[in-house]
Amino acid sequence: MTEPLLTGAEEIAWNLADLYAAMDDPQLDADLDTCDAEAQAFQADYRGRVANLSAAELAALITRYETLNERMGRIGAFAGLNWTQNTEDPARGALMQRITERGARLSQELVFLDLELAAAPDETAAAWLADPALARWRHWLEMVRIFRPHLLSEPEEKLLSEKSVTGAAAWVRFFEEVHGAARYELDGEQLSRDQTLSKLYDQDRDLRRRAAAAVTAGLKTMQRTNTYVFNTLLADKASDDRLRSYPTWISGRNLGNQVDDRTVEALIDAVTGRYDIVARYYRLKRRLLGLDELFDYDRYAPLPAADRFYSWEQGRQIVLDAYGRFHPRMAEVAGWFFDGRWIDAPPRPGKMGGAFSHGVVPSVHPYILLNYEAKPRDVMTLAHELGHGVHQKLSGVQGVLQADTPLTTAETASVFGEMLVFQSLMAQESDPATRLGMLTGKIEDSFATAFRQISMNRFEHAMHTARREEGELTTERFSELWLATQRAMFGDSVTMTEDYGLWWSYVPHFLGTPGYVYAYAFGELLVLALYARYRQEGGDFPERYIAMLTAGGSNWPHEIVKPLGVDLTDPDFWGNGLDILEGLVAEAEQLADSLG
Ligand SMILES: [Zn+2]
Repeated sequence: MTEPLLTGAEEIAWNLADLYAAMDDPQLDADLDTCDAEAQAFQADYRGRVANLSAAELAALITRYETLNERMGRIGAFAGLNWTQNTEDPARGALMQRITERGARLSQELVFLDLELAAAPDETAAAWLADPALARWRHWLEMVRIFRPHLLSEPEEKLLSEKSVTGAAAWVRFFEEVHGAARYELDGEQLSRDQTLSKLYDQDRDLRRRAAAAVTAGLKTMQRTNTYVFNTLLADKASDDRLRSYPTWISGRNLGNQVDDRTVEALIDAVTGRYDIVARYYRLKRRLLGLDELFDYDRYAPLPAADRFYSWEQGRQIVLDAYGRFHPRMAEVAGWFFDGRWIDAPPRPGKMGGAFSHGVVPSVHPYILLNYEAKPRDVMTLAHELGHGVHQKLSGVQGVLQADTPLTTAETASVFGEMLVFQSLMAQESDPATRLGMLTGKIEDSFATAFRQISMNRFEHAMHTARREEGELTTERFSELWLATQRAMFGDSVTMTEDYGLWWSYVPHFLGTPGYVYAYAFGELLVLALYARYRQEGGDFPERYIAMLTAGGSNWPHEIVKPLGVDLTDPDFWGNGLDILEGLVAEAEQLADSLG
């Protein structure tokens, strides 16, 4: 076995000292105590009086509330980020659990605020919303009010919040720890899940087949645990939804996403109605790979010339250049992440897999976690997470309560950033075979975000519905629902083996954030439409785009994208993005034909 090539990312590590010096930094406990004291004082000053406050008094309250949230967010971010660097270290896990418990107690003490704001009479709320003193937080107030029909009484909310730490949240953490520690045996080696899954991108078909078999075998040893955790969390969600009077499993998520059920249904109908684009592409891929039949483990097989090595320095340069050509401000803000050590790049034993950008709090800065292995998709992941990071950094001006966007638009900057990098790499490439490889790579990424996430949403819909109607589900029932929803997407273009049936059981999003996955498709199709606008209009589009990022979560998503010429409420809107995807597939077919 040869040593892997050095990527240059080996030493690129976070500097968490911007938050706290170390796990035992005395400032951390001092800040916790300050938070507790301030929460007590806050309660003493306001509890039971919120509905009687003038707009000016409410503005003073919110300012104090923001400061408290900033301090608590900073502590929570440190504990969480520190844990992701080594999830197998008990001390890090213990610190995170301690902070989670203290944080939950703190939010229980503050729970009265949302409840009293929501319960205030409509005339009072209307007067607040109209007052210039509260203009800065208008949307946050609107959002607190929309949950009005779904909130319980204060003692009930406190109880639910306290019990969730050892309930749903504990099950999610247990699941993550089991999967973090799991090893999959491949060719005599013990590999982590991400290491094993990465072999699905290998040229060697038999290695892909063995890697898929290793994942299935590993999941099989955990199937009792996984089935139990899924059933428990599905039931927990069902009782939450019942207690809060949400009509369907997805209604609460849609409300939080600030999008109505009808818009989401239109998105799902539009995407599932065009599954033919997926089958059309995989028939082309089968032809390009020269295979008679594509199996599930062939989906990510690299096509010729798509395999390149990008050192950390090259990856950094490519992304900053592409961002800078769109707008210099984008490259400037992205540059801070490298200069300030806000990125943790290399894979390490025990480190959390995948990638994310954590916004932390506006008074500090975001942090990005990667597992950079110098592949083309690692460059795309860098572009993706930096898109999030720039968005989070720019929207910080909205303050801690309004910086974050709902999930539906949270993926806009990340996917747009990937598009910029893709187009710039495409523009530099003239060799048709390489262009074809890049194009198919882009198509597969877009499919993973648009089509695959909707097929996962269909699985979520099926399992939540089945758990509510049929009671506890067996492993086989989960697998049946999984295969049915995945086969619907691929049609006859890819053969999903029975072994693939268990692959629902490692996806953390299903448990940690039910209903999350459709937001990716929302974001992808929105970005395709935005990118088309940018190409058509040019001009001051980049300025307006940066204004949109800076707006963060300070308004409804459909209002924030409106200045960019996009109407989210138009049911035909989603078809535009899907047409662009179909166009990419047609272009790939033509390139393939021209190569013979
Ligand atoms: Zn993302």
